Amino acid sequence: MNPVPPAKASSPTPAKTAAQKALDKLGLRRDIDLALHLPLRYEDETRIVKLRDAREGDVVQIEATVTDQEVTFRPRRQLVVTVDDGSDTCTLRFFSFYGSQQKALSVGNTVRIRGEVKGGFLGRTMLHPSFKTAGGDLPAALTPVYPTVAGLPQAYLRKAVLSGLARAELSDTFAPGDLEDFLGQIGRQPLWTLREALQFLHHPTPDVSIDTLLDHSHPAWQRLKAEELLAQQLSQLQSRRERAALNAPALAPAAGGTLRARLLAALPFGLTGAQQRVGEEIAHDMARRIPMHRLLQGDVGAGKTVVAALAAATCMDAGWQCALMAPTEILAEQHFRKLLGWLEPLGITTAWLTGTQKAKDRRAMLALIESGEAQLVVGTHAIIQDKVKFKNLALAIIDEQHRFGVAQRLALRNKLHHEDMEPHMLMMTATPIPRTLAMSYYADLDVSTLDELPPGRTPIVTKVIHEARRDEVIERIRAQISQGRQVYWVCPLIEESEALDLTNATQTHADLAEALQGATRADGQPVLIGLLHSRMHVDDKKAVMGAFTAGLMSVLVSTTVIEVGVDVPNASLMVIEHAERFGLSQLHQLRGRVGRGAAASACVLLYSTGEAPRLGETARERLRAMAETNDGFEIARRDLEIRGPGEFLGARQSGEAMLRFADLATDTALLEWAKAEAPLLLDSYPQLAAKHVARWLGGKAEYLKA
Ligand code: ADP
Ligand code: MG
Repeated sequence: MNPVPPAKASSPTPAKTAAQKALDKLGLRRDIDLALHLPLRYEDETRIVKLRDAREGDVVQIEATVTDQEVTFRPRRQLVVTVDDGSDTCTLRFFSFYGSQQKALSVGNTVRIRGEVKGGFLGRTMLHPSFKTAGGDLPAALTPVYPTVAGLPQAYLRKAVLSGLARAELSDTFAPGDLEDFLGQIGRQPLWTLREALQFLHHPTPDVSIDTLLDHSHPAWQRLKAEELLAQQLSQLQSRRERAALNAPALAPAAGGTLRARLLAALPFGLTGAQQRVGEEIAHDMARRIPMHRLLQGDVGAGKTVVAALAAATCMDAGWQCALMAPTEILAEQHFRKLLGWLEPLGITTAWLTGTQKAKDRRAMLALIESGEAQLVVGTHAIIQDKVKFKNLALAIIDEQHRFGVAQRLALRNKLHHEDMEPHMLMMTATPIPRTLAMSYYADLDVSTLDELPPGRTPIVTKVIHEARRDEVIERIRAQISQGRQVYWVCPLIEESEALDLTNATQTHADLAEALQGATRADGQPVLIGLLHSRMHVDDKKAVMGAFTAGLMSVLVSTTVIEVGVDVPNASLMVIEHAERFGLSQLHQLRGRVGRGAAASACVLLYSTGEAPRLGETARERLRAMAETNDGFEIARRDLEIRGPGEFLGARQSGEAMLRFADLATDTALLEWAKAEAPLLLDSYPQLAAKHVARWLGGKAEYLKA
């Protein structure tokens, strides 16, 4: 749909005024954008109230005659006006005022005044009320107050919105009845048309319950939310179908003694049922000529890496290259080592790419990748740089996908320049996505879920402990060390200052070293305590990580750099200092670093209340959730409840793509409706569907596709 031209499109375009620029800034360019710019709140100017009936705190409109006016200077210069409406008097105070205002409030004038009534020792007062000359009709509707920015006066915006509303093309995509049936089932009120809904929300009649407008439960709001959710579903469905029209190399499993089969045979463990099922889902996708677009979600420790390795093996079996990209060097290196360990004995050449590697090494790697000799490439963002040319990339695996931006994921996808083909994409995440989010923002992805942990894990016991009881925690650490186990101690990231962050970790490291003097290991080796933080040189980081992984170090003190991917099965205790400062899913990720082996593992959440007598409510809720459950899905659900969807969306959260009106926590039923409706609409009325998406998303639909 073309945007509706502004009313005077043919006249020469004058330079934009500040107000017009401000409208642009708010994204209010098309008539429909203006029509959808909804009031933040409303003022009731439809009634005139008698002062006698106004209670303290009420915002009211009165009509009264000025009986006195003076400018006083104590305690500071102010205009003090007394008015009388026949029922009572009221004092108006203005600390800044113009001569014209003073004149309008001359004794004897009758004025219409709006403001909040305050009581007071000397009777009713209003501070800086708005006022105008009395008389004239009262408006029939509540007065909308719109969200605005500096340089855009409310009155100008109001006019612009109302004329946008008048011009906007608001024909319905779906009849009210379409949704009425559905909403009827869930006990909602009948739906309004889009035009009715918008007219109403911009000019509600005074009999409406303002609460239903503010909490968005009013039928006019239901209509808008249904519209918005439908647009989102349509756009996701469209991008899914567009992708289905693209080509990808069909990576059918090769017959007989394949790499995949040899890898399976060589693994030191058998796959879990969930790994098998998910592996088949992925293999099925990759065997098709349509690019796979699949998200593999599985709790920390669920065993995603081996699933990725099997997908890679299938790809290499078919004679194509595979790339695995991870968000941090530590994580990428872990994958590299693991995959190398599995695949090198089977004769596979794996290339390693990172931003910190020496130019000479990198050139060698680039040559291996370009010639196709390296069948598998593992690395960080370095993989998507222009210089990296693949011979024939067919499978791109992205670990912790939410930590990458849209552009980065697209860049990896574009690494296959081969007869108009796209590679298959497998994205992995340890943050399970709650169902409503999966249904909305991720509706263009197929989702595979590893819902079973590998066998032999004992559940992690989580304890929430006040930092005053640090000594007890130290004792626990001693006990673990003496049994030959290893311990993580995580310090919070102090956002304002990386330097503080470092001091904090360094200090903790020194304190622990002192507190653990005399601790002994079962094997008689010295007790070593390592330190890992973001400012360290990457080689030093690797050295520390390597020593911990090899079991040479008993305790690793770290800032949150170990958040993802670290895999040391012998680690059995995780201490998180200032746990109250971490987000819920971050705590869960950190906790997932232990409990990877057969030993009983524990997580201690050390919290501090600082100066405050106790923790804030959300911090307590987070710690409680951690103590109550180990289930990543339950954690994700509670996290969504506590924080809203923003955090889950990572790069998708680019404000524009967010739902403005619908709320996934409360509008599940409307979401279900939109999901069911979208394919019907797209199949039967494709033009109507396209119009709907353009109306709602304008140019923003692209954001939803990556
Ligand atoms: P994540 O899903 O968090 O990436 P990993 O892939 O790192 O988990 O796996 C966690 C640990 O479990 C690794 O040490 C891995 O080798 C091991 N593992 C994976 N699958 C199985 C299995 N089926 N049986 C036993 N151990 C497994
Ligand atoms: Mg992993």
